[in-house]
Parts: sequence; structure tokens; C-alpha cells
Amino acid sequence: MAHEDCLFCKIVKGEVPAEIVREGERTLAFRDINPQAPTHVLIVPREHHADAAAAAAEGTGLLDQITSDAHEVALAEGIAETGYRLVFNTGSGAGQTVFHLHAHLLGGRGLNWPPG
Ligand code: 5GP
Repeated sequence: MAHEDCLFCKIVKGEVPAEIVREGERTLAFRDINPQAPTHVLIVPREHHADAAAAAAEGTGLLDQITSDAHEVALAEGIAETGYRLVFNTGSGAGQTVFHLHAHLLGGRGLNWPPG
């Protein structure tokens, strides 16, 4: 189910351009427009779910899929061995601005903890 005014649905449909790095049957991975690390890729499901909690509640299996796809992208980007961070911002208070489930894959530099 695509949402007419959802930015990531439009990227999935090819209506908004993006630098795609991986195309899966259920997911798409593309570079973030405002990268926060040398590698900053967003992994999104092709179908619309508002956030990770919504997809989990519906039993979609998408979180497993996104996690394994992210690891494949990390391998391709050469950051799997050094380590990477996978982030699901969930809710506006945590910084979520696009309400279509997405994982941020970040790596290629040292990452601090706790995050800001
Ligand atoms: P959130 O803040 O919801 O966790 O993450 C949304 C991400 O989408 C942000 O990191 C932001 O830079 C990225 N973003 C926003 N608009 C676009 C766009 O048009 N294209 C791409 N590739 N990324 C976008």
C-alpha cells in the first residue's frame, strides 16, 4: 500500500530520484541526501509502514529482512568488518522525520556512544 504523499513511497516508485545502492524484492537501499557519515544508506521496505514498531506489530518479517539487507550493503561498502550502526528513529521525539519505515546504516568513521 503506497501513501500518495509519502516521500519514500515516491522514491520506491521512481517518482523521486535517489542514488540506489541495492534493490531487493521487498526493500530498496539508497544514499541519504544529507549524509552523517562516509557511508549513510537508508534501507526501506517497498510497502508502506509508518515505523519499525508498526511493521513488527503486523508481523511482516521486514525487520529481519532490513537487517540482513543492511549487512549486505555494509559488506559492499567495506564497513562490515570495522563495524557499523543501524538506527531506526521511531517517533518525532527521537528524530523521525519521514514516517515510512527506514533503517539508517552508518559507518566509515568512528561513531560515538551515546548518540546525540
Ligand atoms: P529520519 O529523520 O526520519 O530518521 O530520517 C529521514 C532521513 O531521510 C534523513 O536522514 C534525511 O536526510 C533523509 N532524506 C530526506 N529527504 C530525502 C530525499 O529526498 N532523498 C534522500 N535520499 N534522503 C532524504
